[in-house]
Amino acid sequence: MGIQAPRGTRDVLPAESYRWQYLEACMRKAAASAGYRETRTPVFEHTELFLRGVGDTTDIVQKEMYTFLDKGDRSITLKPEGTAGAARCFLEHNLYAEPLPCKMYYLNAPIFRYENPQSGRLREHHQFGLECFGAQEPTADAELILLAYRLLSELGMRNLSVNINSIGCPKCRPVYHSRLKEYLAGKIGCMCDDCKGRFERNPLRVLDCKQKKCQELTKDAPSMLDLLCDECRDHFQELQACLKDAGIPYTVDPRIVRGLDYYTKTVFEMITATKDGNLTVCAGGRYDHLLQQIGGPDLPAVGFGMGIERVLMLAESESIQIPEPAWYDVFVTYMGTHRADAFRLTQLLRQEGLKADMDHCGRSLKAQFKYANKTKAPVTAVIGDEEAAGGTVKLKNMNTGEERSAAWEAAAAAVREMTEIKAKE
Ligand code: ATP
Ligand code: MG
Repeated sequence: MGIQAPRGTRDVLPAESYRWQYLEACMRKAAASAGYRETRTPVFEHTELFLRGVGDTTDIVQKEMYTFLDKGDRSITLKPEGTAGAARCFLEHNLYAEPLPCKMYYLNAPIFRYENPQSGRLREHHQFGLECFGAQEPTADAELILLAYRLLSELGMRNLSVNINSIGCPKCRPVYHSRLKEYLAGKIGCMCDDCKGRFERNPLRVLDCKQKKCQELTKDAPSMLDLLCDECRDHFQELQACLKDAGIPYTVDPRIVRGLDYYTKTVFEMITATKDGNLTVCAGGRYDHLLQQIGGPDLPAVGFGMGIERVLMLAESESIQIPEPAWYDVFVTYMGTHRADAFRLTQLLRQEGLKADMDHCGRSLKAQFKYANKTKAPVTAVIGDEEAAGGTVKLKNMNTGEERSAAWEAAAAAVREMTEIKAKE
């Protein structure tokens, strides 16, 4: 075999793309239901954006970014997450001058991270993300959590846990930082190498470590929740009241800190259990100072990202049925010399709004039928000598065996009648 796709990437094949399309339709519907409108931003941005936005002490920036110099010697980075690009777009186009909040979503945004490829972990994955700029109230946080939860449960996902936490704000977090540092100081020797570095640069990150031994060490670490300032505490309480009121089962998990530096107050994750362990499908939170950090006004914001490959993976492991659309409504077959007729009839049927096709590979009539069967076309049309002479076509329902003869102009209507496909709108 010649050249293969790079490690950690995945092709979406024609036979499976309907699964993506189904999910995309559900996602767009969910976003639109709360007034989020689509935004599309470039796949790459100036590296500076992520250094300032995501934070240079995070794993993403330290180890995982695809960064390169372009031919003009500019440092460019393929998007390692969606929020910073959306925030840059919001600022660059002065969207803050319009009535707020500004609600936007992105769908199928390719995200690049140099990670160790393993189950559920790719080097290129895709996200559905929602961002709400200019809203400080906890109802905005609750709305996002609800939207993601309902989307996933309506898709049929069970065993979904919603974990939330508050990581405070620049007023109350420094106190927590020093408490946590005191707690961790005696344990540095037993931590993984990454956490030794995190301890110096950003001790909160140690709580996020995926290594068992570090998780064990931080089991009894002090909790940010005990040190929240009044504003952050009220915010977190109102968020919880909204979730309770909406009947969303959630757990407060003081260990969630998230892998990005820009978060303040609310952070959340939605996790499902799989045979390979827990998998995070959706994660997000509030980032009230990101806009200012990247050079804009100090406006609050909140958002989430959902990994599309992970949702599809879970859909598969939970045997969620995703309806597969028919490839064709009708397949046109022809005898010997009647290829031009078959071509014309196929075009006519398409113009009438049906999904139609014919043989393009020089097959015999028998082989055309065999092929039509494989495509699962519910109706096969046949043009033989008799039909060609009379301007008609023979239609056969492949499921019931019912046969009809129809004039070309009436063929589309007949196919619809035979299969109960709705008329063109
Ligand atoms: P994890 O804890 O699994 O590393 P994360 O905290 O890095 O996730 P985010 O940066 O918040 O994740 O990204 C949002 C969502 O994108 C995740 O919840 C997950 O569904 C998906 N995601 C993140 N990294 C990957 C990856 N390497 N491959 C596939 N999906 C991913
Ligand atoms: Mg990660």
